[in-house]
Amino acid sequence: MTRYCCPNCWGNFSINYGICPECKFDIDHFYKEQTYFQKLVAALHSPEPLTRDRAASILGKIGDSRAVPQLLELLHTTDDYYSMRTIIESLELLGGDEAYQAIQMYAGHKSVIVRNAARDVCARRRTGIEFLVTKEAV
Ligand SMILES: [Zn+2]
Repeated sequence: MTRYCCPNCWGNFSINYGICPECKFDIDHFYKEQTYFQKLVAALHSPEPLTRDRAASILGKIGDSRAVPQLLELLHTTDDYYSMRTIIESLELLGGDEAYQAIQMYAGHKSVIVRNAARDVCARRRTGIEFLVTKEAV
């Protein structure tokens, strides 16, 4: 069953309301006016982990480096290790020194999931091995 979500208060509904019944946010207007990129960035703040992870993954695959600051913010604030792994992989795809320096910070993380993701990125960067996920896979 399809569920609809307000991008302002993250209320979750079975009906597609144009105006959020909980916070009165104009959902229809939001989705008409926002670009795909802006919708993905908004989805990084979803309370639903799978939604956040999908948005983070797609932002990496579309290769839009404007997402780096938002991904870094989420990486530094989330305590979900699987989300952190996804974000690290996306930051690798987006590249740049700021992203790589942040990834290096997580090479000693307490979670093996996060630590291995960061160490894999660092190893690939040192050896010049390309990450296996390509932009064409989107
Ligand atoms: Zn709402």
